[in-house]
Amino acid sequence: MIKMSEQTCPKCKKSSPAGSSFCQNCGAALDTPQITGVLVVTTSTIPDYEVVRVLGTVHGITVRTRGVGGKIMAGIEGMFGGEVTSYSSEAEKARKESMDRLIENAKTMGANAVIRTDFETSDILNGTATIFSAYGTAAIIRPTTK
Ligand SMILES: [Zn+2]
Repeated sequence: MIKMSEQTCPKCKKSSPAGSSFCQNCGAALDTPQITGVLVVTTSTIPDYEVVRVLGTVHGITVRTRGVGGKIMAGIEGMFGGEVTSYSSEAEKARKESMDRLIENAKTMGANAVIRTDFETSDILNGTATIFSAYGTAAIIRPTTK
């Protein structure tokens, strides 16, 4: 989601790993990298960045139905207790999808960050389908000037 390239030290020209605040060689302060994708966080503040504009709420939604086969498998797994693997992998995919859509919607709004992100799931159609939603606040952030 967030791409950071290696940081080059302005003083000794040696490179440090992406995201470093200080040069690993000489200890000089490095610039906070510019964000090229959309940064999604659950917090309302981001270290080293400031929110310059709030664009409004943003969401990503996906609805999953559970086929009869999956339901029977989940039922059998449920009888023995423990993790319902057939359902958790599906939930994992659905959550990722809602995140991807959240990011897409945020990009459309011109945001480079989504703050205060939260997830919600709810069953509809008598529990035969589940809504996975991700929502947050679309914002524009920039590195704080030191
Ligand atoms: Zn250096």
